[in-house]
Amino acid sequence: MKIEEMVREVQQALGVEVDGKAGPETWGAIYKCIVKPKAKAAVVLPPSPVDPRSEKCIATLLPEVQPLARALVHKAAEHGITIKVISGTRSYAEQDALYAQGRTAPGAKVTNARGGQSNHNFGIAFDIGIFEGNRYLGDSPKYKAIGALGMDLGLEWGGSWKTIVDQPHYQLRPTWAKQMTEREMLAELRSRVAAGTAIFG
Ligand SMILES: [Zn+2]
Repeated sequence: MKIEEMVREVQQALGVEVDGKAGPETWGAIYKCIVKPKAKAAVVLPPSPVDPRSEKCIATLLPEVQPLARALVHKAAEHGITIKVISGTRSYAEQDALYAQGRTAPGAKVTNARGGQSNHNFGIAFDIGIFEGNRYLGDSPKYKAIGALGMDLGLEWGGSWKTIVDQPHYQLRPTWAKQMTEREMLAELRSRVAAGTAIFG
């Protein structure tokens, strides 16, 4: 078979003009037929609103609480509010050191809870900060807006407390503690930790 005949047959098969000469049209059709289209670029997900600092704090929380903390950051972002998780779990020793501040150590008082007296000692609590760009806002009406979102998620919001209002604070109350006072819940949390019993469950 002559080359020209081959080209004619190829052209026929490709459905292009049959003239026995492989010009641009024929080559284009051959190319389309043989070279697979390139894989589409991978879907580019928008960057997560959960920043590395928040992730570091979230990682200190119990697995039951972590997705809720992340969800709160996402929900806030959906509402155009930037929040970061700025505090997670503290050991009893870290809590004692914090308690010492403004008492036996320099600085201002930041807590009334000693080691074992804060929900932050059990992996169930975290604090958020509101940010505008990189600027931390310690005081902002946005804390209330986020509080509502947090409660929607099933979190307990420190801003809804009667005695010590703590707007940046969130915690996941275990179901066994639903009817308990804060003091009763903390006592049970301490005894569970001491006994090595799961907090949730
Ligand atoms: Zn807190």
